[in-house]
Amino acid sequence: MSLNVTDRGRLNRFLEHLEESARVELGYPVAFDIDYKPLEPFLGYSLNNVGDPFASGHYRLNSHAFEREVLEFFAEMTQAPDGQWWGYVTNGGTEGNLYGMYLARELFPDGIVYFSRDSHYSVSKNLHFLGMRNIMIRSQPNGEMDYEDLRETVRIRRDATPIIFANIGTTMKEGRDDIGIIQGVLDELVMDKRYIHSDAALCGGYAAFLEPRPAWDFADGADSISISGHKFFASPIPCGIVLAKRGHVDRISHSVAYIGTRDTTISGSRNGFTPMVLWYAIRSLGVDGLRRRLHNAMAVADYAEREFRAAGIEAHRNRAALTVVFPRPAQAVCEKWQLAAAGDIAHIICMPHVTRAQVDALLQDILSERGRAAPGDPK
Ligand SMILES: *Cc1c(COP(=O)(O)O)cnc(C)c1O
Repeated sequence: MSLNVTDRGRLNRFLEHLEESARVELGYPVAFDIDYKPLEPFLGYSLNNVGDPFASGHYRLNSHAFEREVLEFFAEMTQAPDGQWWGYVTNGGTEGNLYGMYLARELFPDGIVYFSRDSHYSVSKNLHFLGMRNIMIRSQPNGEMDYEDLRETVRIRRDATPIIFANIGTTMKEGRDDIGIIQGVLDELVMDKRYIHSDAALCGGYAAFLEPRPAWDFADGADSISISGHKFFASPIPCGIVLAKRGHVDRISHSVAYIGTRDTTISGSRNGFTPMVLWYAIRSLGVDGLRRRLHNAMAVADYAEREFRAAGIEAHRNRAALTVVFPRPAQAVCEKWQLAAAGDIAHIICMPHVTRAQVDALLQDILSERGRAAPGDPK
């Protein structure tokens, strides 16, 4: 069994295309700096983590033991209540968000979900799947939820349990909703029953290392948290982590004879390779290595903001954010550097693989495109 020359050529060209594309990728929250090739031998097995990672099933070619260690690491990072949490490795942040909202719906069928306008595009879709009532809340200019609008909106619907979908790093501006403030708003309205989900797809990978620490985790009052594994943790295959308070999960799980374990996850067959990827990152870098990676990336974001401003480009950044927002440059620049743009703004995300040299090259491109545009030309 082998490929013919044409097909081999096709794969080689695709590899070159990937190498070239990776060199000019600054717009998306992915990272390329961790070498996972030592895990290659494990691609030789049909690893499948079907079922609950904490229960043993009939199928033995799983990496549940690694998955549990990964979850324990994230439980610590998110200050989960000792022994009173549960979770699994998902296919990505979206699945973790879906899981969190599913839990919330089962616990509070009468609930209304409040989420800010700057939430990820998948949130409305997830809520539509689940048939949950929901209301969009205004955002502040920095992407963070407008707590005044939240207060006014919840106040007139006091008969429905509030389910807050909080963003810990919005997609465009890396704005972080403050769960402490949200709790304060609900306390003031005497809404004792509540559910708070933390969409930490981007920042969950490093929020624990930020100073000051944002209010985002279980200690701050989250009921469930979703984190992406292919963002800060640089997994070459999309994946994520979802964690929730154990009591919530126990109320909705049930056993299935076919797999010999509890059916607690959204997907049936589950990726057994990605938990090994996350485990490898955690074990090879350790907390110190991860923290150092964040600090280096933060220094590049700092550099980008300063250089852009020095060149007369109005760049902005939330405090301790890797995302640098600036006026949308010419289309050719957005395309070359794979910049995400929305309306009149664009951003770069200084993930750990991004270098100062790349920032310089992007800045040069923006400036020379500007120089090229004749006065009066549309931007
Ligand atoms: C990336 C992201 C998501 C979606 O996560 P995936 O891992 O791509 O499924 C959701 N919310 C936020 C804030 C994100 O940054």
